[in-house]
Amino acid sequence: MPDAATMEKIVALCKRRGFIFASSEIYGGLGSTYDYGHYGVLLKTNVKNEWWRAMVQERDDIVALDSAILQHPKTWEASGHLAGFTDPMVDCRTCGQRFRADHLQDLQCPQRPSKHPGEATQCDLTEARDFNLMFETTMGPVKDSGATVYLRPETAQGIFVNFKNVLQFSRKKPPFGIAQVGKSFRNEITPGNFVFRTREFEQMEMEFFVPPDEAPRWYEFWKAARREWYVDLGLREDHLRLREHDPDELSHYSSGTADVEYLFPIGWSELEGIANRGDFDLTAHAKHSGEKLEYFDPQTKERYVPHVIEPAAGADRATLAFLVDAYDEDELGGEQRTVLKLHPRLAPVKVAVLPHLRKDGLPEAAQEIYAALRGRVQSEYDEGGSIGKRYRRQDEIGTPYCVTVDHQSLEDDTVTLRDRDTLEQERVAIDGLADELAARLAREWRSPKIAGAEA
Ligand code: ATP
Repeated sequence: MPDAATMEKIVALCKRRGFIFASSEIYGGLGSTYDYGHYGVLLKTNVKNEWWRAMVQERDDIVALDSAILQHPKTWEASGHLAGFTDPMVDCRTCGQRFRADHLQDLQCPQRPSKHPGEATQCDLTEARDFNLMFETTMGPVKDSGATVYLRPETAQGIFVNFKNVLQFSRKKPPFGIAQVGKSFRNEITPGNFVFRTREFEQMEMEFFVPPDEAPRWYEFWKAARREWYVDLGLREDHLRLREHDPDELSHYSSGTADVEYLFPIGWSELEGIANRGDFDLTAHAKHSGEKLEYFDPQTKERYVPHVIEPAAGADRATLAFLVDAYDEDELGGEQRTVLKLHPRLAPVKVAVLPHLRKDGLPEAAQEIYAALRGRVQSEYDEGGSIGKRYRRQDEIGTPYCVTVDHQSLEDDTVTLRDRDTLEQERVAIDGLADELAARLAREWRSPKIAGAEA
């Protein structure tokens, strides 16, 4: 069966349910920037928290960092971004639009959407020119005499420039890592495909510093670990792959780079890159800053510049992949149901408490249960509309469990617990409800979209 998820349906669901929508909408939006609403914030926060859990909570060799978005301009000179963080760009003299020269085959001519830019007879493309993707701004009150600074195009450099600081206060020695999550900015020539490529986005990056001879082993380790992270959070394995870069794709300093790719509705595309960066970054910053960025091993009396393995992921891109993978449509009681089969750990709301009717003391009883649950998990109370409509609403936002309070609840202190994936409804004692939910939420979970999967 073809996958129900298309980019149009995901965008429509995100807007309808307030996950993600165009930013500055009342002014007509601003080219490819998006705002996250309530459920979108909860979902993306869960994605980032799962990353922190895997990187920091479950390991004792990685520490956290939150560096500034604005950094000394020399950072970008040393990293090579000022000179080389460019994409080739062409302009069309006919329609005035700008395109990424190396993506023409994936783009559409605005005047002849059935053609690629440059294909239609009226297209008149310029020669390709390099365009620097960094956003520039001025620091200080006087525009002309202020210093030019840049919005960081990646979080990684904030980690490298802090290597010495972190080494001192963290009491770690290689192999150890520094992890950071935060906003990055790239003046992409052709952003698009919803939050897949935007000009402002969040990254989840970790730099793992290792003795040089251990780099190949750690590169293999992180490739496998990062692929596994997506699988553990429910992405279907047949929609995930690791693609090793060809030698001509590699940056000059990298001895190996692989992408974790996901089969989006737009085709196989990068979710995350894992790179063996050698000693390029620390050596470059040492040269430009004059600081020694190396490690002295007091046991072996050896001094060396650690090599770096970098898993670099995008929080928005990952969120989009989880949404696409979860989106499903089925039929229920003769009606079509749209449902997000998200891993319960990622679901924005874990449980919704619903009084069957808005009378006879049912709302009061349901409110009491809701008050008890909300301290333990993200919960929602809803009494508006028919029970079927309320189930549909929770299905669309991916809530794994609904608790329904009915007349029987008032007699025997039980409620029904409905499972989003199996649609089974079981009567459960109110007394044991919180523990029952906790147990179910902690269970292993596989996407019911995988043929034969047990929910
Ligand atoms: P691409 O080839 O798609 O431009 P990249 O290889 O330049 O990506 P990296 O510099 O390796 O990306 O950044 C790490 C991660 O940050 C990417 O795998 C992606 O998830 C995310 N990312 C990069 N650029 C964007 C963007 N413009 N919008 C959203 N996420 C992005």
